[in-house]
Amino acid sequence: MSDIQALLDLQSDDLAIHELETKLAALAPRIQELDTRKQRIVDTIARQSALVEAEEKKQAFLRDKIQEHRQLIERNQAQLDNVKTMRQATAAAAQMEQAKKIVAGEESDLLSLNRKLEEMRGVLNGATKELAELEAEQVTARAEVAAERDEYDKELAAAQAKRTEAAKAVPDALLNRYDRIRNRKRVHVVVPLNALACGACDTAIPMQRRHSMMSGTSIELCEVCGVLMYHAV
Ligand SMILES: [Zn+2]
Repeated sequence: MSDIQALLDLQSDDLAIHELETKLAALAPRIQELDTRKQRIVDTIARQSALVEAEEKKQAFLRDKIQEHRQLIERNQAQLDNVKTMRQATAAAAQMEQAKKIVAGEESDLLSLNRKLEEMRGVLNGATKELAELEAEQVTARAEVAAERDEYDKELAAAQAKRTEAAKAVPDALLNRYDRIRNRKRVHVVVPLNALACGACDTAIPMQRRHSMMSGTSIELCEVCGVLMYHAV
């Protein structure tokens, strides 16, 4: 096998590897999209849980206050039962009226708070349900991505093993040149001549190099775009 053919075989393996790597990289945005959709709901749940918790604290505080003020009313009632004078009775009754008004106000606040909390818990439950549904829905999509990744990984391992073998057929000096150029992110490193010009950048090859190239055995570096050129026989 000629050096050119060995190099072309190697390049074909490298192109296959590159294609698989591109396919693998394309899986990342798909996983990212699934994660983003899920994260949006997870964030909603966290936010809503914090709101519910804060309102529950207010609710507990209000309940304590109502309890406290009811006890005050009971004490006022007891005082009222034990008063001796009219003046004391009037004062105790006024105090009790005041306390009852406060409790009535607090009970009304508690009622609206309870309603608000119910609504907020509804939103929270809705989001929790939505998350469970999305997770179930994503099971298939995630399994598909994982299966594709496994498949590409397997193909990639095989392609890399094949590449290692193909590289053995290329002389060391030529392999080094090729790898150096390839590592600069060029996908196509070895290109055939197009008439008497570089097949990649179309620069005409110098007169003095034409003969050796046209004989079909030499591989030359294009000094303009840096690819390796050969004459396809
Ligand atoms: Zn060129």
